Amino acid sequence: MISFPKTLLEGYRTFRTQRLPTEQSRYRELSERGQSPEVMVIGCCDSRVSPEVIFDAKPGELFVVRNIANLVPIYQPDGGAHGVSAALEYAVQVLRVKHVVVLGHAQCGGIRAFIDKIEPLSPGDFIGKWMAMFVKPGEVVEQRAHESMQDFVTRIEKAAVFRSLENLQTFPFVRSRVEQGDLQLHGAYFGVAEGSLFVLDKQSKEFKSAATDAAIP
Ligand SMILES: [Zn+2]
Repeated sequence: MISFPKTLLEGYRTFRTQRLPTEQSRYRELSERGQSPEVMVIGCCDSRVSPEVIFDAKPGELFVVRNIANLVPIYQPDGGAHGVSAALEYAVQVLRVKHVVVLGHAQCGGIRAFIDKIEPLSPGDFIGKWMAMFVKPGEVVEQRAHESMQDFVTRIEKAAVFRSLENLQTFPFVRSRVEQGDLQLHGAYFGVAEGSLFVLDKQSKEFKSAATDAAIP
């Protein structure tokens, strides 16, 4: 007999007895009025980097799409089915979110698979094809001389955030709202071991610790 995971049932019961009573009115209101999150987060599927946990978010606050290596594809109105683009379209055109945050992270398996050029995991080679969008035609991603493997991996994990931010702006509806000044794009990077968050500083193009108020742009 197939049984529903016990940990999930226990978790739900904890939610029901502890969290739900404090948030019941919020859930009712969200049910009646619909959602109106101001922030969309594009993160990785990795089980260690849940945006709702990291940002201590309440129900209805974050519109989240997660995929391997927190990647945003370029705008491709080619008739194909594009999950991230659909989520982005809804967030920007319907929910009118004010911020889109691309959240990268340390020890990203997708990035590691890309760096290690792993063999296809199935005939579809879905990860290989997905990660291929990370590289522009003719672009070479290589470890630099005197760069440790750790530094190389971190650099590429952060580069994935930059690439996604770049690709976001290939969507006409994103670009126009950014130009109008009513949508902002942000990058962030989560260090799993320390639970540390770094926010991309738009001027210096560096990730700065978000642990103190002063560092938040
Ligand atoms: Zn990841």
